[in-house]
Amino acid sequence: THFGFETVLEEEKAQKVYQVFENVAQKYDVMNDAMSLGIHRLWKDVLLHAMNPQPGARLLDVAGGTGDIAFRFLKYIESQEEKMRRREAKIMQTPSWQDISTSYAGEQDAVPQESKAVVCDINKEMLKVGKQKADSMGITTGLSWVVGDAEELPFGDNEFDIYTIAFGIRNVTHIEQALQEAQRVLKPGGRFMCLEFSKVSNPLLSKIYDAYSFQVIPVLGEVIAGDWKSYQYLVESIRKFPDQEEFKDMIDDAGFYCVRYHNLTGGIVALHSGFKL
Ligand code: SAM
Repeated sequence: THFGFETVLEEEKAQKVYQVFENVAQKYDVMNDAMSLGIHRLWKDVLLHAMNPQPGARLLDVAGGTGDIAFRFLKYIESQEEKMRRREAKIMQTPSWQDISTSYAGEQDAVPQESKAVVCDINKEMLKVGKQKADSMGITTGLSWVVGDAEELPFGDNEFDIYTIAFGIRNVTHIEQALQEAQRVLKPGGRFMCLEFSKVSNPLLSKIYDAYSFQVIPVLGEVIAGDWKSYQYLVESIRKFPDQEEFKDMIDDAGFYCVRYHNLTGGIVALHSGFKL
């Protein structure tokens, strides 16, 4: 019925997205800071606090790009482990525990499985920048980088505790398909979490935000990355993405439970989450 036009358009979109991120990969992090005035860091921190991952957790970060979510995940878990060690040390110091601990010493605590983060992205240039970042941060364990499409994830069923996608899902051609894949790779009880640009409801903020997006962002793109078009695409893709409620319905329809969202910065960004049961 569509004489194949739809498929052509879809292929064009996928190619365009690939091109955009190939072009911007080297400047991606600098541009993120410039465009969002550094606020994207806070949005990502909020995601991690809402996630509150515990030692042993397995994360799949789809459209993970240069690794921001995975780095935060590993760092958060490290701080959790540090807290646990301190608490344990304190307990062991109390006199009544010293007697018990001697009889207890032979028994090793069950070693929790290693925490793991997998960054998956369709664009190897983005991953390359991420890997370089990991090297410079000295992160060597618990992290892997996989080229893959959100619509056809190269992972088995029920493998992950948490699936994240931050500022990635609006770039995916078939969102429903990506949600199905999220559902498949999560373990039962696993959580889906998505950060994405959304709809600003306050009319004044909306005006300012529009002016900023259409007039400032492409200029920044040109000045910093020498690439007006890629950043114009980014702004347009943000406007086309479903609003908070529509996207929530899509997640519901994919079969997730307890789906909800929180607006960040007046709805410029929304954090959606749901569980696989
Ligand atoms: N999550 C990172 C962050 O928050 O900084 C990167 C977000 S970046 C705006 C969007 C990423 O989505 C790009 O790295 C792009 O290559 C990736 N992407 C686009 N389409 C994809 C797809 N179908 N499957 C996997 N990744 C995709």
